[in-house]
Amino acid sequence: MTQVHGNYIGGKWVASDSGKTFLDVNPADTSEVLGEFQLSTRDDARRAIEAAQKAQPAWGRMPAPQRGKILLKAARLIEERAPALGEILTREEGKTFPEGKGEVLRGAAVLEFFSGEGYRFTGETIPSESERVFLYTIRKPLGVVSLITPWNFPIAIPCWKLGAALIAGDAVVLKPASLTPLIAVKLVEVLAEAGLPPGVLNLVVGPGSTVGHEVVTHPAVKAISFTGSCDVGIRIQHDAAKNLTRTQLEMGGKNPTIVLEDADLDEAAEIVFLGAFLSTGHKCTATSRAIVVEPVLDAFTQRIVERTRKAKVGNGMDPAAVIGPVVDETQMNTILGFIDRAKRDGAKVLLGGSRLTGGIYDKGYFVEPTIFGRVEPNQEIAQEEVFGPVLAVIPARSFEHAIEIANGVKFGLSASLCTRNLSRAMEYVDRIEAGVIKVNQVSSGIECHAPFGGTKASSTGFREQGSVAVDFFSEPRTVYMKY
Ligand code: NDP
Repeated sequence: MTQVHGNYIGGKWVASDSGKTFLDVNPADTSEVLGEFQLSTRDDARRAIEAAQKAQPAWGRMPAPQRGKILLKAARLIEERAPALGEILTREEGKTFPEGKGEVLRGAAVLEFFSGEGYRFTGETIPSESERVFLYTIRKPLGVVSLITPWNFPIAIPCWKLGAALIAGDAVVLKPASLTPLIAVKLVEVLAEAGLPPGVLNLVVGPGSTVGHEVVTHPAVKAISFTGSCDVGIRIQHDAAKNLTRTQLEMGGKNPTIVLEDADLDEAAEIVFLGAFLSTGHKCTATSRAIVVEPVLDAFTQRIVERTRKAKVGNGMDPAAVIGPVVDETQMNTILGFIDRAKRDGAKVLLGGSRLTGGIYDKGYFVEPTIFGRVEPNQEIAQEEVFGPVLAVIPARSFEHAIEIANGVKFGLSASLCTRNLSRAMEYVDRIEAGVIKVNQVSSGIECHAPFGGTKASSTGFREQGSVAVDFFSEPRTVYMKY
């Protein structure tokens, strides 16, 4: 029988007012139902915010190192349960089991990192211009914050937002993506078991248009940290402005990997393959443009096509599968729409280009890894985020031209360059418009103790992860003490 999961409000698992639930299914095999979840209402969201308001003062007064101990315990529990949690993630989101388990362990590492930030929740001392004045800052939590998260990293992203918010002393309402509520429930269970007091973390599952809108517009919410699409991010920024609520928006990308003539082409093909196709391209930092200088265009193109052709697409629990399904039917149709329009725009299909059918493929949503060759920089497939297993290979006349193409999109999340020329690498670092800048590395893949975020339309600029992440969730107070 399907298990029904409640919302977590004020330390209790409760049903929604609506009396309605929805089903969560495996995108690799839609006959498998993972659970039934609450179709929550605005009132449910309001109750969660009120529970957070009640719990926050005591949580904020708890010494930050003690808050950190709870996060550390949660990290250890997640590590112990990584195989089971990884399997849930794979069955719910679709990515392969090694990637699912890897993401779970990333979530644990992030919480471990933020547990240490409890010991570093410091201010600064400043030499006053006046005599006998001790001038210093302390940091205070904001109060209640809302975290709105996407389906593609359904445990790592909640962990990195939660870690920073909780260590700062804020109480949280978490609204996970409706496609991946089960792993969110499991995460909340772990944090409760680790000793988080009731009301400090509340989970409300339900539609973005109602639950999401309420946790954005409620006047008690002091900050909103959102990861998701640009359209929704812009709406949130607009809605939050009425209450002057602080927003952190991490959104899409159209990430380039530039390949220069002196690159190791086998290594470059591997870097582009991993960036473009792992996690079915469902990464905000995925490589979706390979910008290749003409002298090595054909040699690189041949290598990337051959490398990708070898990758097996299948159920993420199949150890032979390298690429899993697309997350759901809507996303699949979006991706196939981009592919069809690219074909109409004259881009040449070098590999894939269709939905996979027959056998296990008929059970879920599988799209062939797709490569377009000789794409023009102004075509839709070279400009818009597809968020699927699709790569555009774009020719460039020179290094200068490659940089111009790389920067010629509205996004600026991550970028990579394959070269052995140090001078070129330094110049690229200087000129590329991206928040995460890689050289001879995959455009995706980040370390949890380093700042993460984009520029241009990819982000509003507040960084996540690393020590700097805590700044968004806290505010300094400046003290002038005359003695
Ligand atoms: P969406 O923007 O559709 O959804 C993200 C979250 O916002 C979900 O929880 C969703 O709820 C919620 N939401 C939807 N509408 C509203 C609303 N009106 N008010 C408040 N909340 C709302 O993105 P996806 O989940 O489809 O994720 C894919 C996108 O996320 C891609 O564009 C990708 O680039 C981006 N992304 C960015 C990352 C980054 O760090 N820059 C990392 C990962 C993804 P519901 O699920 O119920 O619709």
